[in-house]
Amino acid sequence: MVRNISMNLENLQTILKNDPPFRLKQAKQAVFKDLITDWSQARSFPLKLREELTEECSLEIQAKLFISKDQNSVKALITFSDGQSVETVLMRHNDGRNTVCVSSQAGCALGCAFCATGKAGFKRNLTYFEIVEQALFFARYLKNENQKITNMVLMGMGEPFLNYDNVISAIRILNDKEGFGLGARRISISTCGIAEGIRKFAKENLEVNLAISLHAPDDALRSRIMPINKKYPLKEVLDAVDDYIKETKRRVMFEYIMIKDLNDSDEIAQKLVELAKRPLCFVNLISYNSTGIFKPSSSERIKIFKMILENEGVTVTQRYRFGDDIDAACGQLAAKKL
Ligand code: SAH
Ligand code: SF4
Repeated sequence: MVRNISMNLENLQTILKNDPPFRLKQAKQAVFKDLITDWSQARSFPLKLREELTEECSLEIQAKLFISKDQNSVKALITFSDGQSVETVLMRHNDGRNTVCVSSQAGCALGCAFCATGKAGFKRNLTYFEIVEQALFFARYLKNENQKITNMVLMGMGEPFLNYDNVISAIRILNDKEGFGLGARRISISTCGIAEGIRKFAKENLEVNLAISLHAPDDALRSRIMPINKKYPLKEVLDAVDDYIKETKRRVMFEYIMIKDLNDSDEIAQKLVELAKRPLCFVNLISYNSTGIFKPSSSERIKIFKMILENEGVTVTQRYRFGDDIDAACGQLAAKKL
């Protein structure tokens, strides 16, 4: 079977180049606002155009779904036209928020010791539209239940700042008020600490939230679990964070996975205090989700660790764990071949 060519904005523009300009606007609205899944649903378009769009700019998204027992997490294994796959996760919070966790790369080259994506290696960067498509997929899914995506996090597979331009283009498309319309403040991006990416991001004039994967408060330990720390040691990352805050006046989240007997002692909590006590910064403690190597800290240990930080004046939040029964939790995305 010959597969139709997948949609992206260049394709769309080329196909519509001889049509009146309003047609492009209508087409974008149909895709991003009305969330059509097939051009046959663009009823005001001439039949011939609908057929051409179906062949040359297909809206089909190939996905296999996995739903957690409690139904709060849904994972989609999305396969692109060259056969590469990524995983995207929908998290349905009790307060009505629907957060979609999107991948920025197929795989990841950075090999953090605790992360299944890192273990699987790097395949390729995603195009901006492949990033957009992941959100479109779950927006369509939720539309069937009269619901919407309320938040998006770039915390799936890959390092967003090593695919910088595609990530920013995707954010701008999803943020467009006349299209998908997801507010910038409802979007968060997580980086393992690519310093020049953080500095560039500060100048984008986007009100998107920034999170830094810290996971250890000194270089020796951090380099052991995050090899990228050798290229961007803590001082460089934190200098970039300080510059980001100066430029944007926005808060920064330090993500910190709690791993048993590795980074969860009282002494390490004290070290983390020194580092996290910066204006507008706060720490998000994350339970380690099993990927085979380490063990998660006990809830008692997490409680004490959190108390040490709080007693020293550091603001601490805790991340709720979603979907580990379908390997959909943070760090478990590997897009295993079925
Ligand atoms: N590459 C980026 C974004 C993707 S990872 C980054 O590293 O920040 C998103 C978050 O999941 C990061 O904070 C990452 O450190 C965390 N993570 C990775 N493996 C994990 C695991 N096994 N358990 C819990 N969180 C994990
Ligand atoms: Fe890559 Fe982030 Fe996983 Fe590290 S934690 S291997 S940077 S996806």
